[in-house]
Amino acid sequence: DELISQIAAGEVVERPASVVRELVDNALDAGARHIQVKLMAGGVRAIVVEDDGCGIPVAQLPLALKRHATSKIASLSDLESVATMGFRGEALAAIASVSEMAIASRTASDAHANRLDARSGELQPAARARGTSVEVRELFFATPARRKFLKTDATELAHCVEAVRRHALARPDVGFAIWHEGKLVDQWRPATPEQRIADVLGEDFIADSRAFSHSAGPLALTGRAGLPEAARSRADQQYVWVNGRYVRDKLIAHAIRSAYEDVLHGQRQPSYVLFIEIAPELVDVNVHPTKIEVRFRDGRAIHQSVRRAFIDALAASRS
Ligand code: ADP
Ligand code: MG
Repeated sequence: DELISQIAAGEVVERPASVVRELVDNALDAGARHIQVKLMAGGVRAIVVEDDGCGIPVAQLPLALKRHATSKIASLSDLESVATMGFRGEALAAIASVSEMAIASRTASDAHANRLDARSGELQPAARARGTSVEVRELFFATPARRKFLKTDATELAHCVEAVRRHALARPDVGFAIWHEGKLVDQWRPATPEQRIADVLGEDFIADSRAFSHSAGPLALTGRAGLPEAARSRADQQYVWVNGRYVRDKLIAHAIRSAYEDVLHGQRQPSYVLFIEIAPELVDVNVHPTKIEVRFRDGRAIHQSVRRAFIDALAASRS
């Protein structure tokens, strides 16, 4: 069972940033309004994610660490319309199998928080306000081969920060702070969607892009298309989310590229942010262990709508 968990961990947990993504997903699913991410040594030594969400009832704390234990879907048919970021009940168990993990949590009705040490199973009273703190220490300590593949602390930190940026862009209503070695690295207060984009990607991103909003049946697209005359056109600022989940998708990337080619006859690395909202039953998020890939029921319709949204935004900026 330990081995199976570690194999699953290999698929879910590639590096500290994968842990950050999963823990922040959980905090958002718990309804957090403020999320703190505290890192040591690029996240390799420690990743602590603290939220002010609903908390975990003490009786369910041990369950949260069990493989395939999820409180988010009750039946297989729920899988057809996943509305939460998590649904597999795999992340915490997988992370716990390759680290020293502890969870401290408190619900609104608890008199105090409780802290569960994953390895020893020891449960102790703890002090904290409502919400959950998940501590992940010494990632891959027992699997030196994996640990060896990690890059420098600075690189791992950059990946962790990028993971939080993706969440922060998708959830402007939630406050985020990232700390490294006790120093504040980045902080985003709750804001309007446009202000959050400015806060995360820079004021010049707003000036150098054009907002669009396009809806077609069960599909709503909003975002900003980077303008060609912008000095900065950066491939590392191409962001797509589907129902709040950051994704990489060839079909969408292709649709956007073809829009730029159509209107501007080439703009190789445009910057953009694209938020796709779609009825959950029209997209399968259970394709990849890290949930970074999705499959659309009607890929053609997505391609057309994305292309249309970008063409309109770019054409409007020309006139
Ligand atoms: P999943 O997110 O797919 O359900 P996880 O392994 O990530 O699986 O988490 C297992 C369970 O632990 C969740 O279903 C949830 O009930 C609980 N949980 C984890 N993190 C938190 C959190 N920050 N706040 C509240 N509950 C949490
Ligand atoms: Mg999860």
